[in-house]
Amino acid sequence: MKNISEIFASRVFTDDVMQKMLAPETYEAFKRTVRDNLPLAPEVANEIAKAMMTWAISKGATHYTHWFQPMTGITAEKHDSFISKKRNGKIITDFKGKELIKGEPDASSFPSGGIRATFEARGYTDWDPTSYAFVKDDTLYIPTAFCSYTGEALDKKTPLLRSMEALDRHARRLLRLFGKNVGKVTATVGSEQEYFLIDKKIAAARPDLTYTGRTLFGAKPPKGQELDDQYFATIKPRVLAFMQELDEQLWELGVLSKTRHNEVAPSQHELAPIYESANVATDHNQLTMELMKKLADKHGMVCLLHEKPFAGVNGSGKHNNWSLSTDEGENLLDPGDTPMENTQFLLFLAAVIRAVDDYQDLLRVSVASAGNDHRLGANEAPPAIVSMYVGDELGRVIDAIDAGTSYRGKGRKEMAFGSMVLPKFKQDNSDRNRTSPFAFTGNKFEFRMPGSSFSVAGPNIILNTAVAEALDDFATTLEKADDLGKEVRNIVFKTIKAHKRIIFNGNGYSDEWVKEAEARGLKNLRSTPEAIPCLVADKNVRLFEKYGVYTRHELEARHDIFLENYCKTVRIEALTAKEIATRKIFHAVNRCVADMCENIASKHNVLPAVDTTIEEDVAARLSALNSTMMAAVSELDAATLAADKISDPREQALFYADTVLPAMDKVRAAADEMETLCGSSYWPLPTYGELLFSVK
Ligand code: ADP
Ligand code: MG
Repeated sequence: MKNISEIFASRVFTDDVMQKMLAPETYEAFKRTVRDNLPLAPEVANEIAKAMMTWAISKGATHYTHWFQPMTGITAEKHDSFISKKRNGKIITDFKGKELIKGEPDASSFPSGGIRATFEARGYTDWDPTSYAFVKDDTLYIPTAFCSYTGEALDKKTPLLRSMEALDRHARRLLRLFGKNVGKVTATVGSEQEYFLIDKKIAAARPDLTYTGRTLFGAKPPKGQELDDQYFATIKPRVLAFMQELDEQLWELGVLSKTRHNEVAPSQHELAPIYESANVATDHNQLTMELMKKLADKHGMVCLLHEKPFAGVNGSGKHNNWSLSTDEGENLLDPGDTPMENTQFLLFLAAVIRAVDDYQDLLRVSVASAGNDHRLGANEAPPAIVSMYVGDELGRVIDAIDAGTSYRGKGRKEMAFGSMVLPKFKQDNSDRNRTSPFAFTGNKFEFRMPGSSFSVAGPNIILNTAVAEALDDFATTLEKADDLGKEVRNIVFKTIKAHKRIIFNGNGYSDEWVKEAEARGLKNLRSTPEAIPCLVADKNVRLFEKYGVYTRHELEARHDIFLENYCKTVRIEALTAKEIATRKIFHAVNRCVADMCENIASKHNVLPAVDTTIEEDVAARLSALNSTMMAAVSELDAATLAADKISDPREQALFYADTVLPAMDKVRAAADEMETLCGSSYWPLPTYGELLFSVK
């Protein structure tokens, strides 16, 4: 194992490297540009580009790429070599400022939701100097934003940066009222990543995993996760070898990989990094997912990032831990020891409460996908209803504010383990509530609804913008106030009164909560097709336009892209289910039944009195189920064809949810029952047991 401090960020063009390689004036000019959001002067860009190339070549790079995040949810790259032209029979390497700053990939084959017709395929990538460039394999990766010819965002980074700027602006206004003139307020994000590792050879025999990332068939195995013997269990050598190499590579790329452990379901694991700015954390999470896939393959495994690869055991999520930090290192969501007196904290807390309540629909949209629909509300992940958990201590503070009474914190208790040899420490102010979609966890909020395969850009764009609006309104009122202290208390009081309904500290998985949430007027958007239209609701368009995060046109485009993605995903699943049922399961079961019948006939030939009732029953049952399955396949086929004919994207998505998915379930139900009866040597797919316990 390599030494962490020696390898950390060894492949990153960090601030330190830049400072060492650039002339002091250039370095200063660059820093100023980034801090004050100014355009970069061409000579500064040229010098940085030259330094970057020299550094990248010293790390073995021959190519550079503008690395961007189109609406596919994964990253995109097109490599250009540093080769310039020949001089005296020799080539020279070159990389100019304008190549660093601007790229022009053909944008026509990325989802654009109609923003860019193919005849105007031009797209631009624009260097994001707030996320470091790095060398991976033989290429210099330059993080970039991706826009159309007309400047409309075609990616996930552009709106994220816009939302971070809005949040920064209004958070600083508020802090100024508290006498703090900070240079920058940054949204910080730590995203915990769950994933499955399955043996590659076994997974390869499952076309459903190959095409859709999840199993579309599979009877329940005798053992699942009921013994809780996987959670935090000793890590198997093969998995550990993978994790070690993953950590090493992530560290070299400057990703602060911190925690690794086994998760609840068999073959499920988690990686958590230390938090960074929302922008860098998003880039780093994309790198993490990509490396997980690549290295799993190298270690003879497949990494599944789907939200629900297996029915009956837990799916995978991505917890988005979110807070606000000043450039002086103050965490604005840290309540300190006496939250009731910490008015600045209470204001920021009130802003988040208001934001989550007002834009619960947008938060729900930000986690909506065909994959995550199998997870949200399925007793393993938070429900599709957005609510907040604040814990006992803050709950009492909020109750006191709501009642207009005072509250004195009890202070933190010392933990007693009942043994003298064990060292003592202070108990946390709040216990955990694992069932809440949006939980306050000491000095940050943990948004637990995002799916494991998501880019975290989406949820953070919503959070940043919604909180920016609340801070903006608070600051506007307070800037006019005569008595600041009184007005702050008034705002906190009024906000809590108005938005208290979003706070729920009970069991979010219970049926009673669904009823109570409805009584409170909270939204319960059960599926993606139900949620997506909220993206273009008037109040939401107003929010985004006001803070310059999205135009109406950009939102409409995204609305279409999300629905289209949903429909395409379910359609691929439907076609895969049909193919597996028709070409594999049907014939396998037929063979099994034919062999059984032959067997029965030959038994009767030799032993006319023999009792073959059981064989006959099983053969008959299998035969009947096979017919049932094929009838369901016909229904599924008809449903898919009918879906193809629907031109309205909302209607089409609802049809996929209400008609195509249930038709797939019917096919599966018959197939899964056959799996429990059919001889294992006939069954054409590795079973759940074989998949889930494949990595020894
Ligand atoms: P758990 O939720 O499993 O108990 P931790 O308390 O270790 O985990 O934190 C989970 C994640 O929250 C980590 O990625 C961590 O870096 C991140 N985190 C901690 N503090 C902040 C913060 N101020 N802003 C954003 N993320 C944070
Ligand atoms: Mg967590």
